[in-house]
Amino acid sequence: MGAKVEESVGWGLVGASTIAREWVIDAIRQTGGKPLVVMSRDADRAATYARANGIARATTSLSTLLADEAVDAVYISTTNERHHDEALAAAEAGKHVLCEKPLALTLSAAEAMVRACRDRGLIFATNHHLRNAATICKVRELVQAGVLGAVHAMRIFHAVYLPEHLQSWRLHRPDCGGGIAFDISVHDADTARFILDDEPIDVVAQTGKFGLSSHGLNDAVMYVMRMRSGVLVQAHESFVTRHAGTGLEVHGADGSIFAREVMTQRPVGSVWLRRDQTERPIPVEHENLYVRALSRFHAAMRGLGSPTADGWDGVRSLAVALAVQEAARSGRRVRVSPAGLASS
Ligand code: NDP
Repeated sequence: MGAKVEESVGWGLVGASTIAREWVIDAIRQTGGKPLVVMSRDADRAATYARANGIARATTSLSTLLADEAVDAVYISTTNERHHDEALAAAEAGKHVLCEKPLALTLSAAEAMVRACRDRGLIFATNHHLRNAATICKVRELVQAGVLGAVHAMRIFHAVYLPEHLQSWRLHRPDCGGGIAFDISVHDADTARFILDDEPIDVVAQTGKFGLSSHGLNDAVMYVMRMRSGVLVQAHESFVTRHAGTGLEVHGADGSIFAREVMTQRPVGSVWLRRDQTERPIPVEHENLYVRALSRFHAAMRGLGSPTADGWDGVRSLAVALAVQEAARSGRRVRVSPAGLASS
């Protein structure tokens, strides 16, 4: 595999998805990879998608895609309930896996996916794009350098309006893993873990329904989680909030950081540090988040470093999303499962 990887990494796309079309196909191409084949259950959709995105082959069969010897790695971006079976099949076929979040609908399923790749010496990464943002990396750097002194709180603002072209299974299909927590809480949990270098212990939450979602799914949530260090992390996530803007704040004894418009797929936003009554901008060199993720994935395939978010990071973020859902459902404080901690 080593020589092949040096030439070009062959990719199979499991899912004719919006996210692949908007971001990941380009990122694969920009970092030495080549999307070779795309799979959809629908033959016409697969063929149309392949043509529109310059991909040579289309298939409705996962086994055909996985039997392709030119495919070194797969990108799984189907609806959430399909990730598990597809990842296990990919591992069985000896393919490296970049998987979308949430990894699965249960922790045992997510852990099985990560173990299947680990046991075969294959790379498994979770596409938590936010920890690839230059802004988020800068916040982490400042926090970890102690610029804020002892940190006691973080606030995450990730309440947006779900674009119309995405208003389908996320809002109406519990069986596909729809709902706000599987979509956004996983990302915010990962971002908090990354910036604070800390683990969530427990969470309280309230969900809401404001007209977009159906079938018992929620389109908004607010929660507070307590980290192992005692730091409190508050998050507001929504699909129905058109005008709030996004951001995150970290507050410590010696200062506060304000990262504005950073909870997004785009390489935008700004970071500000407030200390001693003054606020100043912190320079950030923006970079495409998905290009950075794919670049690190390709490097990991060559034995250089690890993906920005590995499989255990995906297990940990899922543990938080499940705890958020359970806390909102029960009205109680819920412990975040320690799943993945011993392995990560
Ligand atoms: P899409 O809705 O664009 O579709 C992906 C696949 O899901 C399609 O190929 C289709 O499979 C199936 N699908 C589409 N619509 C429906 C439906 N109404 N009911 C059932 N199945 C459907 O996916 P997204 O790009 O929005 O999301 C794909 C994955 O990526 C999800 O896991 C999501 O959480 C994740 N994601 C991650 C982001 C990130 O930045 N990390 C951003 C956006 C999404 P088929 O063709 O086989 O029928």
